[in-house]
Amino acid sequence: MTPLERALRERIAAEGPITLEAYMEACNAYYYATRDPLGAKGDFVTAPEVSQMFGEMVGAALADCWTRAGKPGDVIYVELGPGRGTLASDALRVLRAAGFEGEVHLVETSPALRGMQEKALSPAHWHEEIADLPAKPPLLIANEFLDALPIRQLVGEVERRVLVAAGGLAFDRDGEIVEASPSRDEAVAAIAICLAAKGGAALFIDYGHAKSAPGDTLQAVRGHAFAPVLANPGEQDLTSHVDFEAVAASARDAGVAVTPLVSQGEWLERLGIRARADALAKANPDKTREIQVALRRLTAPSQMGDLFKVIAIHSAEWPQPAGFE
Ligand code: SAH
Repeated sequence: MTPLERALRERIAAEGPITLEAYMEACNAYYYATRDPLGAKGDFVTAPEVSQMFGEMVGAALADCWTRAGKPGDVIYVELGPGRGTLASDALRVLRAAGFEGEVHLVETSPALRGMQEKALSPAHWHEEIADLPAKPPLLIANEFLDALPIRQLVGEVERRVLVAAGGLAFDRDGEIVEASPSRDEAVAAIAICLAAKGGAALFIDYGHAKSAPGDTLQAVRGHAFAPVLANPGEQDLTSHVDFEAVAASARDAGVAVTPLVSQGEWLERLGIRARADALAKANPDKTREIQVALRRLTAPSQMGDLFKVIAIHSAEWPQPAGFE
């Protein structure tokens, strides 16, 4: 039994069944705090870890938006859940080359990952929560951050809970599921309120769907394979698909402009990832194959290209980031 499972069983014995939302929050807090989950030896690989081209395209989109906004001087780079800091270091290389000199602010709860980010990125400022960010216009990126925030699952009108049954953890009910994520809605609203008041733009990249619909999208991943969601609590990555209709609605309610939702493949192609791949291959002929494989992995519909989606939200006074039309 994992250490977290023991603690959860004690909690359930004392309090009764806990909501899936509380379960997911406890599992992910423990999981991220205790390891680097990324890479071949970890549990999953994210787009910035596939190739530097991903972070460079994010940097190019943010640099272009900032340039068209007139290069305001008080803008900061913000990343939510920066993992190993790879995306930020690739994006900031492009932003710095465009003349961006703003501070770097990272929202990260995991001490293990903060340590890696410090090596990749200092000087930077770290924050526990979005609410702790300075009140300045951000150029913000969140890749595979929203998927890790806790969700609720409703069966009919009733919220699904986790209990102990037959010696293991189990759900208290089954049936047609409707998901909601108040934490996700709050995170997007907090960013949107800041954008509406201060200016700036934010990119959210994640797996998910364009329209809210019933269905169970909770998943656990361990060692690059799916696992049962209630197995090994705290030792596997628990996520759900992002409901981008809900993301767009929270942002609009806070008074910001929202772009169309586009697939990651389409977005990267429009930003010129193919030209970047060609330039990289030309400069590193021995890496040509590796670069082509990475390009396909990021953009091909059968790989990450279609499942992953990109949406941007921005202050009405700022231009729409590139790649969405
Ligand atoms: N964006 C990175 C890492 C994705 S993994 C990449 O693309 O490689 C999810 C990241 O979000 C990790 O850095 C994790 O520690 C962080 N995270 C998860 N839940 C969080 C929370 N509630 N608050 C802040 N960071 C969180």
